[in-house]
Amino acid sequence: MREAPNIGCTNDAGAAAGNSVGRMTGSAPSPGERGEGKASSAADLVASVVRPEIRALSAYAVAKADGMVKLDAMENPYALPGPVRARLDAALARVAVNRYPDGGADAAKAALRRALGISDRQAVLLGNGSDELIQIITSALARPGAVMLAPEPSFVMYAMNALYAGMRFVGVPLSTDFSLDLRAMRSAIEREKPSLVFIAYPNNPTGNLFAARDVEAVLRASPGLVVVDEAYYAFAEASFLPRLAEHPNLLVLRTVSKVGLAGIRLGYAVAAPEWIAQLNKVRAPYNVNALTQAGAVELFADTAWIAEQASAIRAERARLEAALGRLPGATVFPTQTNFVLVRVADAKVVFDGLKARRILVKNVHGWHPLLANCLRITVGTPEENDLLLAACAELCR
Ligand code: PMP
Repeated sequence: MREAPNIGCTNDAGAAAGNSVGRMTGSAPSPGERGEGKASSAADLVASVVRPEIRALSAYAVAKADGMVKLDAMENPYALPGPVRARLDAALARVAVNRYPDGGADAAKAALRRALGISDRQAVLLGNGSDELIQIITSALARPGAVMLAPEPSFVMYAMNALYAGMRFVGVPLSTDFSLDLRAMRSAIEREKPSLVFIAYPNNPTGNLFAARDVEAVLRASPGLVVVDEAYYAFAEASFLPRLAEHPNLLVLRTVSKVGLAGIRLGYAVAAPEWIAQLNKVRAPYNVNALTQAGAVELFADTAWIAEQASAIRAERARLEAALGRLPGATVFPTQTNFVLVRVADAKVVFDGLKARRILVKNVHGWHPLLANCLRITVGTPEENDLLLAACAELCR
């Protein structure tokens, strides 16, 4: 990685290329500097102004999955039920797309509040997926020197957003059974005094639900905001949403992505109004588009279909867990999500073999030492799961 360029003078890339990037002071501009003749290359300019830690990154890679059995991204495999789809289509047809959306997304928030029974003492913020809310929360709390803390391995976007916002990220390893290492968490919190803690509940990519009393201990020990990220709430047995009034430093984050609506990009944060008022200043004025807002009003009007699909997914999950657990050499970890983490003898061999059979899962080997030879497999439809299991039986003899 190249060192940060010295702003205002010729940087290393510019010097190597023999051009005039950054020679901004004093004499009249040369033809090259005026854009005539030899100009600086885009690569030189990038090297001189883009932050080195950003240049060192690779963009988030989304695997192409055309024509494949797609079990890599924790999507719900079922389409919307017909009547729900018809209501959605009708609502979307009425949206005046020539107008900006409602900046406050009032109708969508009201529908969400009704559906979840959110008390008047709590406030709600909507985001373009919970990914955007993670970004908003992080940038609001990224005071110079501030620390973000999260267990590891967990959702990679926490650390990424710390990097984007210039926050120092402190990862605390989970125990080998993927439970929270409470001693390590407590001492890291004591030492680092994090402004922001992220707990994925249940956790991605391990799939397990941390003990509620351990999360409570983190809430009590933390001097700043604790985000309990419930992206997988529909598949889990517990939630901190009803506990918001007990903990003034708790924010519950959720998304509709795992319950059948990944395409509409809608996440929500629920917390004390004091937190939401500050976060609301950081979001872009129209961060949730008009189609998503109108869709949310319809979709939250009746959520029975979400519960039904989630229960079908949980039933298939149990079948997958049992069948994967019978594969020679495989270890299946407990899950309360819509995916199963499984350790096999050689994750790359199984991943490649599945891919050759047009089945896409996630190989998380290499993400963290605790995930050695692990695959993360999203629960699909019964037919998709049959294909997966048949392929795994061939590959894990
Ligand atoms: N939190 C967790 C724990 C996740 O696993 C994900 C998606 N992988 C997200 C947040 C982001 O979800 P979205 O942006 O689709 O709402």
